[in-house]
Amino acid sequence: MWAQGHRDLVLPRVPGHEIAAVDKQTGTLYTVWPGQACGSCSYCRNGRENLCEEMKIIGFHSDGGFASSLISPAASLIQVEEDIAPQLLCFCEPVACVLNGLEKVSLAKGETVIIYGGGVVGLLAALVCLDKGAYPTLVEKDENKIAKAVPFADACGITVKRDCGENNFDIGLNACDSPLAFGQCLNKLRKGGRFCYFSGLPGASGIGAGDLNLIHYKELLVAGSYGPRKDHMRQAVSFCAGQQPLVSLLIEEIIRPEKAPDKMADILAGKAYKYLIDFTGQAPHF
Ligand SMILES: [Zn+2]
Repeated sequence: MWAQGHRDLVLPRVPGHEIAAVDKQTGTLYTVWPGQACGSCSYCRNGRENLCEEMKIIGFHSDGGFASSLISPAASLIQVEEDIAPQLLCFCEPVACVLNGLEKVSLAKGETVIIYGGGVVGLLAALVCLDKGAYPTLVEKDENKIAKAVPFADACGITVKRDCGENNFDIGLNACDSPLAFGQCLNKLRKGGRFCYFSGLPGASGIGAGDLNLIHYKELLVAGSYGPRKDHMRQAVSFCAGQQPLVSLLIEEIIRPEKAPDKMADILAGKAYKYLIDFTGQAPHF
């Protein structure tokens, strides 16, 4: 977003929409649904508040979690009652996005899923698929990323492949912004398969008619997904609490805020998992 911009990002802005927070008076732990929905438009009234006509997103339209404190509407707070290491609450938002995406393609137990992109979101998507009794295959072109993913993949019992010869997957999901991966993902689906258009693509991406026509010839269903609903955030808290050892493998390092600028180059290069910024000075591995 820093390098390419984003439709909903209004600069200047303190970013940060993956948040763990504590109420200083009560000690209650929260994560934050980063949406601020109007509650009255047709989308809000019909349970699709992530598509609210008046949607404002913390870290995009208002300052977010890369600060020692932020203002959140009470309605966006997700109270945490699960036994979970607070730092892992930063993963609830991306997990919630995955839950939304897989809901949009009606993922069912026993189905096969091909995921393009071996970064944090791709790995989380694979873990959610496993949790739902599905069979994920993860494709990543970058050998360094494949090597980096080995501990997580081994612990989950999945493999991250450079390519995949099969082309009969029930579901595909793009967890990277590559137009090439987008087209390949369509190619790997069986007739009647479902594609979750999860990651946005850069503005000038050309997707060839040859790939798009697969939607026609194979009668593919394509479902977009953007952000999570609030109930996905609640589900994500339970999920992260139940998967703490695996989710913890996706923390690159917990850093002090003043170290954040030094890490941006690695993040832009896609070399790092999640850096968590700790403002409390109390997180482990500090
Ligand atoms: Zn609304």
